[in-house]
Amino acid sequence: MNGKGEQHVTAIHEAGHYVARAFLGGGTSNVAAVTIVPTDTASGQVVLERCHDFQILSGGLLPARAAQPLGRRMLMEALAGPAAEARLNGDDALLAYADFFFCPDWALPRDYLDAGQIVECLAAPNESAAWIWDSATEWTEDLLSRPDIWAAIEAVASLLIADGTVDGDDDRLWQTVEPICDGALRDPTWRRRLRIQ
Ligand SMILES: [Zn+2]
Repeated sequence: MNGKGEQHVTAIHEAGHYVARAFLGGGTSNVAAVTIVPTDTASGQVVLERCHDFQILSGGLLPARAAQPLGRRMLMEALAGPAAEARLNGDDALLAYADFFFCPDWALPRDYLDAGQIVECLAAPNESAAWIWDSATEWTEDLLSRPDIWAAIEAVASLLIADGTVDGDDDRLWQTVEPICDGALRDPTWRRRLRIQ
């Protein structure tokens, strides 16, 4: 086992999802809460209000110029939880697609299963599922290696460790991500990665 408390690991994991969402332009106003209070099915979660993103994506009705940015943002947001946890623990990087693909579902954390479904929606003749997955994992790790992003993750995690659940409209939560919020939308490299035209 690692030396980090389980609560700390969960807090960093959920903070990773939340901060990635804020940076990638997913919006924080529709986050109802971030919590590390466990339920029957999860050790913590970012609770969204009225979130139909996956239904919209998988419905196939969006034009590609809208579906690609939505899906890629969702993909990196999903991977950011396990990526933050791995970074905290000093573990190996995220699973490569080949390892994910050949791993049985029961052995995989929920975030990876979500990511796999998202990748299926995004794959195209000129972009394999493996390429989309492996580039997204690399970019997610790249994102978390930024000192400003990691500082925001640690700040959100501290709030979660103190309070258990933090409401989405809590000013302290917003203040932690304000400096990096929508950063991807202003950065040409990230706009390319997100396929924002
Ligand atoms: Zn997660």
